[in-house]
Amino acid sequence: MIVTIDGYAGSGKSAVAKELAARLGFSLLNTGAMYRAVGFALHRAGIDAFAGVRDAERITDLLADFTFAMPGHRILLNGEDLTAVLFTEAMGRAASKVATFPEVRAKLKAEQRRIVDDGDYICEGRDQGTAVFPDAPAKFFLRASAEVRAERRVAQLLQNGQPADYKTILVDIRFRDRQDETRSIDPLAKAGDAVEIDTSHLTLAEVVQRLWDVVQQRR
Ligand code: C5P
Repeated sequence: MIVTIDGYAGSGKSAVAKELAARLGFSLLNTGAMYRAVGFALHRAGIDAFAGVRDAERITDLLADFTFAMPGHRILLNGEDLTAVLFTEAMGRAASKVATFPEVRAKLKAEQRRIVDDGDYICEGRDQGTAVFPDAPAKFFLRASAEVRAERRVAQLLQNGQPADYKTILVDIRFRDRQDETRSIDPLAKAGDAVEIDTSHLTLAEVVQRLWDVVQQRR
C-alpha cells in the first residue's frame, strides 16, 4: 500500500512521515532527500546547482548513471552514503533549483516508482500524490503558516548545532514556496483526493493520529 504525504517545507511532513511509517511498519521514501542528493552530485560534478545553471545535455548524461537507495533513514547515491551532507539550508536551496529541471524530475519520478515497486511505503514530498503515485489509496497534504514553519526550522537547526536566523529563514521559506508552486512541471499542489491538514496548531502526535485514522479506513 502506498500513502503519500505532500506539502510545504516545514509543514511537519518529514516528522509525520517518519512516525507514521514506524507505527504502520511501512518503509519511508523521503523524496526531498533525493532532490538534495541530485543538487549535491551535480554541484560536485562542476554544475553550479546553487545558481540554477542548467546544462541539459550534461545533466541528462550524469543522471543516466544515478541509482538511489533509501535503506533505513539513509540516502545512498550509487552506493555512497550522502545522509550527513544533505540536510543543510544550502542543500535545500540547491535541491529547489534542480527540482525545476524537467530531466531531473523525470529521472527521480522513475527512480521513486522503481524503489517503491509493490511495497508498503510512505512517500513524502511535493508531487507524490499528484504526479508520481496518482492512484495511491491514501493521500495527505500538509500546510502551516510561513511564520510557524520558520520557527520550527530555527528550532531544528539550533538542535543540530547549525546557525539559524529567523528572518532569513522566513524569507527563504516564502521564496521556496513560490518556486515550488510556480514551477512548470509538477508544481506543489494538493491532489484533488488528498486529505488536507493545517498543522500550525497541532502537535506531532495529533497529526499522526489523524493520518493513522484515515489509513486504517482505507487499508
Ligand atoms: O523536503 P525537502 O526540503 O528536503 O525538499 C527539498 C526541495 O526539493 C524542495 O524545496 C522542493 O523544491 C524539492 N522537492 C520537489 N519534489 C519533491 C520533493 C522535494 O520538488 N517530491
